[in-house]
Amino acid sequence: MPDGSMSFRLTILGTSSALPTSDRYPTAHVLNVHERLFLIDCGEGTQMQMRRYRIRFGKINHIFISHLHGDHFFGLYPLLSSFNLMGRKTPLHLYAPAPVEDLVSRHLSDFDIHLGFGLEIHTLGSRDCTLILNDKRVEVFSFPLRHRIPSCGFLFREKRAERNIIPGMIGKHGLTIAEIALLKRGNDIVREDGEVVSFETVTVPPPEPVSYAFCSDTAWFKELPEYVRGVDLLYHEATFGDDNEELAVKTAHSTARHAATVARDAGAKKLLIGHFSARYKSVDILEKEAREVFSATEAAREGTAYIIG
Ligand SMILES: [Zn+2]
Ligand SMILES: [Zn+2]
Repeated sequence: MPDGSMSFRLTILGTSSALPTSDRYPTAHVLNVHERLFLIDCGEGTQMQMRRYRIRFGKINHIFISHLHGDHFFGLYPLLSSFNLMGRKTPLHLYAPAPVEDLVSRHLSDFDIHLGFGLEIHTLGSRDCTLILNDKRVEVFSFPLRHRIPSCGFLFREKRAERNIIPGMIGKHGLTIAEIALLKRGNDIVREDGEVVSFETVTVPPPEPVSYAFCSDTAWFKELPEYVRGVDLLYHEATFGDDNEELAVKTAHSTARHAATVARDAGAKKLLIGHFSARYKSVDILEKEAREVFSATEAAREGTAYIIG
């Protein structure tokens, strides 16, 4: 399955809302960015789903938790224990709203767990859009959602790669390593004898960077599309259908139609909905209602990998 061309790949591990069903686990997503894995939310059973769908534990160094409701968090404690039992040494970064640090340290002390690896906890504010991780390949932002407790969405934006040298051009022009580096960054080379090597003739542009946004849990609010403008794949919770719109508003959740409105207003390329209430045995109706507003909608399926871009 792994393929070098699939730079952004999302695997859905859970599509249920707070009450799991016999065939739906609570929320957890794994985003693969150039073979580095980011775990987003960690509902009960996440590590079992990771094993089922062959997610490599050792490649996860960053976990993002949207909010501290159990269906997004209960899977974290057993996952930390398993990392420990597996002899993990690599530091793990955990991003979540307050009071995550208190909860985790209390749990570790209550159960006498001594982690053999560093756990770096980054407490998220929930007021503004904030850059929370910036590495070579990707930038991650958190942004505020509207829920009953502080809740954050996450935006993963691939960085633009350098240009690629056209095969055969290195030999043809006798390019040095220093010249290649300049050309890949879009600079022309002027040699001592006056010869010009134009970057446009020996390189091609890299693929367009891709992006993924995660919005769960949240009520609909008008500023949300701005945070996820132009995203390639938008995941948005759709706990309810039109039949339960009042309940959605009351519990600070969204309907499928709300989710589709956000995708449409943000100019997203594709929408994935999830966090389905247990009352919907089949989620076809939710998919249908969303498609009435935004046709490029799909109901998330557990174990399915979605290629982004
Ligand atoms: Zn939830
Ligand atoms: Zn919630």
